Amino acid sequence: MDALSNLDGQNLLMPMALDADGYFDRQCPSEDCRSHFKVLMSDWKGIFKDEAVFCPFCKHEAPSVEWNTEEQAKQIKSQAIGYISTVAMNHAVDVIRAAFKGTGSGFSSPVPHPNRKTQITVKVNAPGLAAKHIFVPITATEAFTLKVKCEECSAHYAVIGSGFFCPNCGHNSAEQTFDDALRKVGAKLDYTTLVRGAAKNANQLDEGELVARSLVETALSDCVSALQRLCEESFKRHFPSEAAPFNVFQRIDEASALWHRKLGIGYDNWLSDAQLQEMKMLYQRRHLLAHSEGMVDDKYLQKSQDNSYKAGQRIVVKEKDVRALIDYVSTIANGLKGAMPSV
Ligand SMILES: [Zn+2]
Ligand SMILES: [Zn+2]
Repeated sequence: MDALSNLDGQNLLMPMALDADGYFDRQCPSEDCRSHFKVLMSDWKGIFKDEAVFCPFCKHEAPSVEWNTEEQAKQIKSQAIGYISTVAMNHAVDVIRAAFKGTGSGFSSPVPHPNRKTQITVKVNAPGLAAKHIFVPITATEAFTLKVKCEECSAHYAVIGSGFFCPNCGHNSAEQTFDDALRKVGAKLDYTTLVRGAAKNANQLDEGELVARSLVETALSDCVSALQRLCEESFKRHFPSEAAPFNVFQRIDEASALWHRKLGIGYDNWLSDAQLQEMKMLYQRRHLLAHSEGMVDDKYLQKSQDNSYKAGQRIVVKEKDVRALIDYVSTIANGLKGAMPSV
């Protein structure tokens, strides 16, 4: 018990295995999130702060000691128990050895009783041969392909799919979020074929078609939201003293006019009239999907100048429509990036 109480407050240094790229596993401690991500070990040691680490997905904030994964916590616990048993065992050996050193107690004397032929032999480990505890490195998971370097603090971290916040400084990059959103849109389109195939194999053609159609329709709306958010954040960052009109970046002509006023350049500098016309029509279709389940009405026909539908029909969103919109919003994003004044 003495030996164990000496362990109180002692730090045990356990080696951590890293993945092939030098990253190690972290997990958000928030019960609602528990998302996994990775941090480059040299950054974790060099630039991360003890008092606060942020979750890349939910921005939960907690001290650096709280980010072990469930698997790491399990391994750390079992290794700590192993270490404590070794310490206790060594201490027990010391106590037994001391007892046999001839400290006056009859028990310590190995000399046999004169009337008996029996002899008790107690073997005690030689001094210096106390068992040493060896920590096995805490295992690491496979490397993630998506690696991010924070534009603010240069911390390196890795996520699956996409992350929104730097785990070191909590920064959210509008450009990064935009790129991730467009990757998500591309992935949705790519997966429609897979979904239809899987549904066919499971004899669930109807469900497969519903899911595939929903992926394409939400992809259209994702493109609009992605550009809107990028514009809002860029505007806030570069023109902090002025508030942009509410939802102005959902309206193409007004948004372009606003950028013309602020930057002297707008959407018509980067897209042709025909492209802008198609973009406006796709924005109107997205509006229909969001507000009237895709049912064509007179307002839509008048605003979009789309003569391929009559009122009462439901619009059909094609994969090629979404791919065209990805192109347009990417072109605008690139144009804006080049035209922004430096902060
Ligand atoms: Zn989280
Ligand atoms: Zn950062």
